[in-house]
Amino acid sequence: MSDCSTCPSKNKCSSKDTVGSQGCGKLLPKYGTIKNVIGIISGKGGVGKSTVTGILASTLRKKGYKVGVLDADITGPSMPRFFGINDKRAVIEPIDENNFKYNPVESKGGTKVLSMNLLIPKEDDPVVWRGPIVTSVLTQLFTDTVWGELDYLLIDMPPGTSDITLTVMQSFPITELIIVSTPQDMVSMIVKKVITMAKKMPLQIRGVVENMSYIVCPGCDTKMRVFSKKSAEEHAEYLGIPLLGELPINVDLTEALEQGIAEQYVMDNDLYSLIFEGLY
Ligand code: ADP
Repeated sequence: MSDCSTCPSKNKCSSKDTVGSQGCGKLLPKYGTIKNVIGIISGKGGVGKSTVTGILASTLRKKGYKVGVLDADITGPSMPRFFGINDKRAVIEPIDENNFKYNPVESKGGTKVLSMNLLIPKEDDPVVWRGPIVTSVLTQLFTDTVWGELDYLLIDMPPGTSDITLTVMQSFPITELIIVSTPQDMVSMIVKKVITMAKKMPLQIRGVVENMSYIVCPGCDTKMRVFSKKSAEEHAEYLGIPLLGELPINVDLTEALEQGIAEQYVMDNDLYSLIFEGLY
């Protein structure tokens, strides 16, 4: 924990101290090394942040990278469903009275996933904890999980600018943030708030993914922007960050999500690899 050599932020770190949890204050995983930690965040819930996290993870796996996903959206955890592992449970190994080791569940496609929903007895049990407990549990899920060697850990962040988001932004060694928004929210103040918060940390913002950008007419293949007359480029320009991709409203994806085969759908479908071509 006190050695900077494995820290994902080591080249971007301004701390002159010997880092780890004692120097710069950033947390490091105890059981593995992670080259890049990417936070995926949105201004509010329901815009497709988790879906985009799953899509990005699956396209990275398809490229052959070693990928992990930490579901930090504790009150709305949906990553196990995306990866079709919601009937599995993560194995918790006690180290001593106060410490545990968490073993992530590996999806069929090889992504290591950890989520509160893989630790509670039943996935529909609510998590009724106050903020400080959630924050402390989340911290443990990052540091005490057996991630092994990862090229990318994607963190599905809680939506908005809550206390938990603040903790993740401040104490996790995030290498970059990706913002997810829908066209109608691109110009809203909640997205601006998230961007301003990230810049204050300061954290590098890679750009914005516009989700539910358009539908494709089944008759003539025309792309129709149903939610906004402005283009995604115009929206990104307004936000002052690069546009990383536009995702269509895709009912086949929704169906795949419902059936727990979204990972397979994304890996088999070139659409998503093409959209994020060149990103990683
Ligand atoms: P968030 O994480 O922002 O709360 P989710 O990723 O859980 O949002 O998505 C909310 C709902 O919208 C889910 O039911 C998901 O299946 C659906 N959804 C998200 N993106 C798309 C898309 N591009 N096409 C079709 N359905 C989508």
